[in-house]
Amino acid sequence: MLIILTGLPGAGKSTFSKNLAKILSKNNIDVIVLGSDLIRESFPIWKEKYEEFIRKATYSLIDNALKDYWVIVDDTNYYNSMRRDLINIAKKYNKNYAIIYLKAPLDVLIERNIMRGEKIPNEVIKKMYEKFDEPGKKYKWDEPFLTIDTTKDIDFGNITKKLIEKSKEIPEYYIEEENKNKEDNIFDKIDKETRKIIGNYIKSGKFDKDRIKDVVNLRKEFLKKIKKKGDVDIYKAIEEFKNMLENF
Ligand code: ADP
Ligand code: MG
Repeated sequence: MLIILTGLPGAGKSTFSKNLAKILSKNNIDVIVLGSDLIRESFPIWKEKYEEFIRKATYSLIDNALKDYWVIVDDTNYYNSMRRDLINIAKKYNKNYAIIYLKAPLDVLIERNIMRGEKIPNEVIKKMYEKFDEPGKKYKWDEPFLTIDTTKDIDFGNITKKLIEKSKEIPEYYIEEENKNKEDNIFDKIDKETRKIIGNYIKSGKFDKDRIKDVVNLRKEFLKKIKKKGDVDIYKAIEEFKNMLENF
C-alpha cells in the first residue's frame, strides 16, 4: 500500500507520518516513511542542481520499498503531476494507494513556520497557500482518500482501520495511458460513453420524442464544451454528464 501525503509546509505531514507509522506497525504492518527531505538533508548545503538527483533518488527508494513494505510518502507533493508519478509506482506493482490531504488554515501554517525559525519565508508559504490546487479538483485519480484538518483531533484508530480496508481492495488507478493522441482518445471515449448513456435513456421508453430530442442536443452541447476545454478527466466528465442528465 502506498500512502501519499500532500499538504503545505507546516500542515503536519512529518508528525502525522511518524504517528501513523507507529500505529500501523502495532497492527503488524511493515511500513516505512520516505520523503525527499531525507536525501535533501543528506547534502551539507542546498543547491538547485541537486534537486533532480533528490527527486530521482526519492522515487527510487519508494519504488524499492513498495515491493515489500507499506510506504508513507512524507512530502508536500504540491503539483498533481507529483502525485501522478507516485501513483504510477503503485500501479507498477499493482498496489493500492491512498492520498491523504493534510490541511490547516494559513494563520496556523504561518504560526507553525515561525515556531520552526522561519526557514521558509512566510511570504513563500502565503504564495503556496494561495496557489495550491486542492487535490482531486481536476482528476478523479487525484481525489484524496482522506482530508484531515490538523488543527483538530486526529482519530488514528479510525484512519488505520480505513487504510487497512482499502489495502485489501482491488486497486483502481483511473490514470490514462500516456500517448501522442491523448486528447483525441479522451474525447473519443467521452463521445462513446455519453452515446451509450443516451442510448440507455432512450431505450428505457420512459420519455417522449421531444424530450429525447432535447437530450440528444444536451449531449451535443456537452461534447462541444468538453472539446473546447481540452485537458479533461474522462471519469469526471462522464460523472458530470450523468448528473446533468439526472437534473435535466
Ligand atoms: P510538515 O511536515 O507538514 O511541514 P510538521 O509535521 O513538521 O509539518 O509540523 C509542523 C509543526 O506543526 C511542528 O512544530 C509540529 O509540532 C506542529 N504540528 C504538527 N501536527 C500538528 C497537530 N496535529 N497539531 C498541532 N501541531 C502540530
Ligand atoms: Mg515535514
